[in-house]
Amino acid sequence: MEKKDIDWANLGFGYVETDKRFVSNYTNGAWDDGQLISDSMITMSECACVLQYAQTIFEGLKAYTTEDGHIVTFRPDLNASRMAASAARLEMPVYEEAKFVDAVAKVVEANAAYVPPYGSGATLYLRPFMFGINPVIGVKPATDYQFRIFSTPVGPYFKGGAKPLTIKISDFDRAAPQGTGNIKAGLNYAMSLHAIVTAHKEGFDENMYLDPKTRTKVEETGGANFLFVTKDNKVVTPKSDSILPSITRRSLVYVAKEYLGLEVEEREIYVDELPDMAEAGLCGTAAVISPVGKIVDHGKEICLPSGMSEMGPTTKKLYDTLTGIQMGRIEAPEGWIKVIM
Ligand SMILES: *Cc1c(COP(=O)(O)O)cnc(C)c1O
Repeated sequence: MEKKDIDWANLGFGYVETDKRFVSNYTNGAWDDGQLISDSMITMSECACVLQYAQTIFEGLKAYTTEDGHIVTFRPDLNASRMAASAARLEMPVYEEAKFVDAVAKVVEANAAYVPPYGSGATLYLRPFMFGINPVIGVKPATDYQFRIFSTPVGPYFKGGAKPLTIKISDFDRAAPQGTGNIKAGLNYAMSLHAIVTAHKEGFDENMYLDPKTRTKVEETGGANFLFVTKDNKVVTPKSDSILPSITRRSLVYVAKEYLGLEVEEREIYVDELPDMAEAGLCGTAAVISPVGKIVDHGKEICLPSGMSEMGPTTKKLYDTLTGIQMGRIEAPEGWIKVIM
């Protein structure tokens, strides 16, 4: 298979149209078989439920080339089950998990020419999503849905090393206690836009959101979970019903315990404890871990001892081990790597 003529190392994180996408439609209470199509455009009613009432959910995962030349994806079954949970919360039909994983494989195979070579740092990002497509004006769930997966090649997340981020404790809230913070829905991102634009204007890379009820506990950022390392080298990560269950974070917790023999605590983490942390990172599919160097709490700077020039040592071990597992350099736990071709 001939690869596309793309400068992999200099790709950014933007949409690049690829050849094929998977589309399945839900009408009369059932999903059709779905198919790969070439048309990247979607035509729908001006009154589609997604346009009026934001009934849409999504997932994000990547396909990449391992050291031995296979094209694989990482734990797509967890994206499938998380999307099922998101669908249930927004009164949408579930797209069967086995069919989801199968559709992911079809999209990767059909766009194999866009999967970057091993060692480039770039990946083929996959975006499964589902939305209510029929006209709805009185507020209620749609009756017709479209499930779609497109792919887009994205560049290495860290160009020239992982620079630690400076983040601020936000005065905006991300998710209500019994709200939708634990699902991957477009609505959680729409309401985060003003907060992130504001943070960027003020010179911060990201927002740290707190629990909206007491504003004393760490939740997550707009699109990544937190992972901290304490000064006695324990890995701690926030436990809350209103954060998104990151697949990367759950994988890192496993790696910390089973590969690195570290003690891990999933528990409530108070803002007051932040000065006791040695390292901090943001976990998500795109970067795996982005190190945090400084947290600013209303003008008060909390500088992590790991500093502003590189990842902390334990964060680095976690990062190297998980990316080693993903790339086939370190043996993966059963079922983590799905070989596509
Ligand atoms: C997608 C997402 C994450 C990261 O999840 P991964 O499965 O690790 O990619 C974290 N927080 C939010 C709010 C997200 O939407």
